[in-house]
Amino acid sequence: MATGRIVIDAERCKGCELCRPACPQDVIKLANTLNAKGYRAAVYVDLEHECTGCALCAVVCPDGCITVFRDIPQKNKKQPREMMAHV
Ligand code: SF4
Ligand code: SF4
Repeated sequence: MATGRIVIDAERCKGCELCRPACPQDVIKLANTLNAKGYRAAVYVDLEHECTGCALCAVVCPDGCITVFRDIPQKNKKQPREMMAHV
């Protein structure tokens, strides 16, 4: 299965939660603290490395706060190459 990771711009996030149910891997939570704008921002919690890089979270985010990185398997290299997905 494909693997990936995301980076959430917590200071731009308004805590609308649209990304949370959109994630099939359930690796997006809401922070317990507030960002500078007073919102509980989305946070990426993926201890088991379950993110597939599907980008559904980034597609539904109305503010473009989520950047997705997707691993691309390389035939002759031990480390996969990483590609940033533009949504
Ligand atoms: S890229 Fe897909 S699997 Fe990864 S956090 Fe976003 S919705 Fe979840
Ligand atoms: S969809 Fe975007 S703005 Fe809404 S909680 Fe997720 S990251 Fe924040």
